[in-house]
Amino acid sequence: QDNLFQKVVSHAKEYGFVFPSSEIYGGLQAVYDYGSNGAALKKNIKDYWWAAMVQMHENIVGIDAAIFMDSQVWKASGHVDAFNDPLVDNKDSKKRYRADVLIEDHIAKYQAKIDKEVTKGKKKFGDGFDEVQFLATNPNVLRNKGKIEEIEGRLKKALEDEDMAAMKQLIEDCDIACPISGTKNWTEVRQFNLMFNTELGAVAGDAAKVYLRPETAQGIFVNFLNVMNTTRLRPPFGIAQIGKAFRNEIVARQFIFRMREFEQMEMQYFVKPGTEMQWYEYWKDLRLKWHLLVGSEENYIYHDHLKTAHYANAAVDIEFKFPFGTKELEGIHSRTDFDLTAHQELSGKKLQYFDTELNKNVVPYVIETSVGLDRMFLSVLCGAYTEEKIEDGDKTKERTYLKFHPALAPIKAAIFPLTKKDGLPDKAREVMEELKYDFTVSYEEKDAIGKRYTRQDLIGTPFCITVDHQTLEDNTVTVRERDTMEQFRLPVSELNKFIGEKVSL
Ligand code: ATP
Repeated sequence: QDNLFQKVVSHAKEYGFVFPSSEIYGGLQAVYDYGSNGAALKKNIKDYWWAAMVQMHENIVGIDAAIFMDSQVWKASGHVDAFNDPLVDNKDSKKRYRADVLIEDHIAKYQAKIDKEVTKGKKKFGDGFDEVQFLATNPNVLRNKGKIEEIEGRLKKALEDEDMAAMKQLIEDCDIACPISGTKNWTEVRQFNLMFNTELGAVAGDAAKVYLRPETAQGIFVNFLNVMNTTRLRPPFGIAQIGKAFRNEIVARQFIFRMREFEQMEMQYFVKPGTEMQWYEYWKDLRLKWHLLVGSEENYIYHDHLKTAHYANAAVDIEFKFPFGTKELEGIHSRTDFDLTAHQELSGKKLQYFDTELNKNVVPYVIETSVGLDRMFLSVLCGAYTEEKIEDGDKTKERTYLKFHPALAPIKAAIFPLTKKDGLPDKAREVMEELKYDFTVSYEEKDAIGKRYTRQDLIGTPFCITVDHQTLEDNTVTVRERDTMEQFRLPVSELNKFIGEKVSL
């Protein structure tokens, strides 16, 4: 699986999806740039989200708030005081780690021991191997399971109590060594705030201090009244936003899964207090359906949070089976009136609506759906990456292609003249002219057709259209479909409708 992930990462770079930022200077950690195909894929994901949220809901509107906000916003939201990760340094290597991640990596070692036992068991007992029974009775498995439970329990408690001394004790008790220096010479564990800050204008000091927003949601909360007044919407209604967020993540790994600069697609749905659970269920259901329209069902699961963050009374993650593990892709949170009430108190402005049934002013409750655009991009890329063996006469060949849903594919169709002669390029350009007003299409005339198909497969183009001599006679072209590799002829006049139907959701 690690190997698969490495292949996806290399593929992303080689075919113009994702590059390390400032690469000629060595690359900036956990910051990435999107190449020509990456930028197109990202835009298609954004458009898909915006259409599903704003266009399809008459009571949801979009906004585009600034990245810089008054620093009081982050005081009220709790980020100044509580948006922390536990951090620990190794005194010899001077390397910095997230204490909880060090401990989780240590737990993974016990899990690896269990997995090894299972593999041995399968080999030994063959067909009659009962894995459930084995896991429940094998003494080695039980010992390692017990260890995992104990450490997980202590870690969870230390995180919940924000008890940094307990975290340090756990690192010592687990006898964890620094992966770089191999020594166990650790500093105390301390809280590290993840917000980046800078100064606005020429004045230095606290007055001018601003943070780069660590989430887009607060831009929505502080505009609640502006939007309500200008749209005349009343709960239930939603405000949606796509924009950059910044977090000074301590552990930056797994490619674009955890970045320091990333984009979020968030929607806050303002509802009458008491109706929030019904809306929570509604959004939980709808958001998974949204993912499934462009992804395979077996890759997604719900993960309900038993203990929720300070601001929520219910929370669920939609998780995706990434090659490096099943991880959060999107969060759906019932945030109560936590944020609006906090801003109301600190700003002194009433953030309420007049409820005609209750005949009084009320602070609405909020259901939030929050998905990382880059993380969604990674899930789409991992889900699309396909290696296949194909029979070619008596030889088998490997084929690699990106099986994007046509709606998300960076390029919808590539147009090829069969040869560079006999006016075929001119005719192919003519076909391209017909399509380019509606779709992103590309033109290629270099190399044999087979090679051109391969290049388009590698970037996930769903359709290749070849103009040949017959085209000059009857105005039909060969359409080759990416996934099945099937080829069929279509009149040029039908191409627009054909592609249009395939790329719509
Ligand atoms: P995690 O537990 O992975 O750090 P989180 O619970 O802090 O994530 P939220 O604050 O709920 O995440 O953010 C909502 C969404 O934003 C996440 O589901 C994820 O898709 C995305 N996201 C959060 N942090 C990052 C990051 N550093 N890089 C890329 N995407 C991110």
